[in-house]
Amino acid sequence: MNPVHALARYPLRLSACLLLVAAPLLALAQAVTSGSGASPVPRPASPLLVIHGGAGVVRTGLSAQDEADARKALAAALLAGHARLQAGEPALDAVTAAITVLEDAPQFNAARGAVFTHDGRNELDASIMDGASGRAGAIAGVHRVRNPIVLARAVMEHSKHVMMVGDGAEAFAAEQGVELVDPSYFRTEKRWQQLQHALAAEAKAQASNTPLELPGKAYFGTVGALALDAQGKLAAGTSTGGMTNKRYGRVGDSPIIGAGTWADGRCAVSGTGWGEFYIRAAAAHEICARVRLAGQPLARAADGVINRDVPAAGGDGGAIALGADGSVAFPFNTEGMYRGWIGADGVPHVAVFRDEALPLP
Ligand code: ASP
Repeated sequence: MNPVHALARYPLRLSACLLLVAAPLLALAQAVTSGSGASPVPRPASPLLVIHGGAGVVRTGLSAQDEADARKALAAALLAGHARLQAGEPALDAVTAAITVLEDAPQFNAARGAVFTHDGRNELDASIMDGASGRAGAIAGVHRVRNPIVLARAVMEHSKHVMMVGDGAEAFAAEQGVELVDPSYFRTEKRWQQLQHALAAEAKAQASNTPLELPGKAYFGTVGALALDAQGKLAAGTSTGGMTNKRYGRVGDSPIIGAGTWADGRCAVSGTGWGEFYIRAAAAHEICARVRLAGQPLARAADGVINRDVPAAGGDGGAIALGADGSVAFPFNTEGMYRGWIGADGVPHVAVFRDEALPLP
């Protein structure tokens, strides 16, 4: 029979045959790609955890003791998260474990040790995202939640919502059995003095009618973690007290999915810096979009957003980025960024200052 006639006579049977041949090929293609990009993601040799403790490092303002304490806390956070990965637990667990340690450490601007608002309160924000499923949770403006990252995760896992704020978020925390503490738990004298300085500088600028310097430039101290687990899946989380002297109800980038936190199948990011600019740039998502859609190497995408786009708009800060192929980037444009990573050898690698070398995995 003429093949054209055969096609015309048996179109249904032919499409069924084509589907039978094509389906396994499609499934194979999906198995080796992640995200919606086309190229396969090489699987890393072993799990990785990357963290930051904020890009507000000022060398002259940091005592030897403060520096040593911060390095110790970074190493403890890396070990806590890495233990989860080594036990075969998912990236989300490693991110939660690492951030919990950093939130409990008073050296960083997250939970205990958070900066103060204009009104003299500690107002906390956090978010978490699971790259494998695209699920996310966030909370903002809470005053009594000991570990905001734990509540952000509860929002993701035990509610129908992505973000809860203020009293409602705290009511949800109580319902979920997430630990609540007296607001005085978050207070440190160092952060209180930073608020006093910021208030005095603001009053002086207003009196002399001169524009104010960056609002609390020196006090970025947000914490963040990214993990790549043994299954090749990514997760990201960020937790912060925001910016010193922030006004009532101000929310920065850290709890905003896509601004301060993002994770998908091939890329995860956590930011730290002047949040308003990170929100406008959708910074964390923008980095991963450049990797996924433009095929840029992770380091180039991260550098382009953090060190070119954000400063060009008037902001500053840093970020950490982790690829599903095991690539890592630590872009920042301040004097330093508390940062570190841990991989196959189980040894925490930590750095603080700009001129300090941090060997990459
Ligand atoms: N990005 C945070 C915020 O704007 C501040 C920080 O990174 O320290 O709330």
